[in-house]
Amino acid sequence: MKQRKKIERHSLETGLIHGKSISKKWDFSHHLVPPISSSSTFRLESAKRGALGFAEFAHHAGKEPIESRAPIYIYDRLGEPNKEILEENLAAAENGDIAVTFSTGMAAISAAFGCVTGSGDEIIAHNILYGCTYSLLTNWYPRYKIATKFVDMKEINNIKKNVTPRTRVVYFETPVNPTLDLIDIKAVVDVVKQVNKSRHKTRKIFVIIDNTFASPFCQRPLELGVDFVIASLTKNICGFGTDMGGVVIGPKWSYDVLLLYRKDFGGALAAKSAWPLLVYGLPSLPTRMRQQMVSAQAVATFLESDPRVKFVSYPGLKSFPQYELARRQMKDYDGKFAPGSLLYFTLKGKTPNVRHNKGEKFINYIAKNAYTITLAVSLGHIRTLIEHPSSMTHSAIPLEDQVKSGLEPGGIRLSIGLEKPSDIIHDLAKALDNL
Ligand SMILES: *Cc1c(COP(=O)(O)O)cnc(C)c1O
Repeated sequence: MKQRKKIERHSLETGLIHGKSISKKWDFSHHLVPPISSSSTFRLESAKRGALGFAEFAHHAGKEPIESRAPIYIYDRLGEPNKEILEENLAAAENGDIAVTFSTGMAAISAAFGCVTGSGDEIIAHNILYGCTYSLLTNWYPRYKIATKFVDMKEINNIKKNVTPRTRVVYFETPVNPTLDLIDIKAVVDVVKQVNKSRHKTRKIFVIIDNTFASPFCQRPLELGVDFVIASLTKNICGFGTDMGGVVIGPKWSYDVLLLYRKDFGGALAAKSAWPLLVYGLPSLPTRMRQQMVSAQAVATFLESDPRVKFVSYPGLKSFPQYELARRQMKDYDGKFAPGSLLYFTLKGKTPNVRHNKGEKFINYIAKNAYTITLAVSLGHIRTLIEHPSSMTHSAIPLEDQVKSGLEPGGIRLSIGLEKPSDIIHDLAKALDNL
């Protein structure tokens, strides 16, 4: 593959800045930065060129796209330059064959499921998932007779126990939101490989992972044998909080089916959103992540030493229960330990009610008084964001059920940004003093 060779001569990190360097995907060979593509339709010159464009669209059949000339663009939803250059770079970032972008992370997740499942199939998923993914699997897929079994994948035997001839997908996130528990990617892949040995090639089980939390800088699941990575580009990859997007990265054969899915279900990434992801977001990902991890480690260490904090969950802390696993599977492009920029901590308090109220008080103080920390959902931005799952994202669940499902009522999630760590710590310390 021409593109991969080009990037492989340099580190992957450098590849995120230069991509293929010169691309046939747009016609301006002297632009250093690709122009913003903003054309919903494309001039075809002749019926013959139109026919060729349609014949070529989603007909790669596992082969490389034609590299000797610009692709024949037809209509933005099928493909256009900014998205396609971004896709090349995203595939390289995850060390995958191909990438197809979508309008949001959820559009990417539904496309990945949609391309490999049909009526009657089953999905095995970890029992804690991003809320909208959980809703997709429990509120919508039963209508199409696609059932999901939720299991605790930290206990690896639970996967094999729940496989049936109908199983088509094993799906999870790691680190898990919001607790930052890890799932052993390699162990899941090994179990599924074992099961697949005795299955017909049309009934193989695919391992699909949501890599949004870690980002490709900190974890590349395809290198561990996962079939598909999906990610919300809205988070770490955008980084600046300006745009939404999603991506599916997978094997060559899936390129055509993903393009066709996007064409017909319609969740295409806006070209105007592809551009900042391509020009600012992805190239700056390693630099942002590296700095945010230094800060996350400092903030985690501070919180861990504070007597008002019950425990801190950050994969970079030696006290992290799965520290060994974290070191094995969360690595940057140089193989260095890369535990990410999210952390989770809980406040002390005798009863769940007391802890819940303390969490809410803490968050409200931050919302009103903190300069460096913003009360907002989302994550992976240059601004530090905080949220209290018990009184926000999970507030619909009664407190006793929260406790039963392992959600700590005093738990607080922090997504560390690019502010100076001492400033973030100052704001946290003031909020703790106010408890
Ligand atoms: C935000 C998020 C999503 C959904 O992405 P959108 O771009 O908001 O659609 C999926 N998974 C995880 C883990 C997320 O954090």
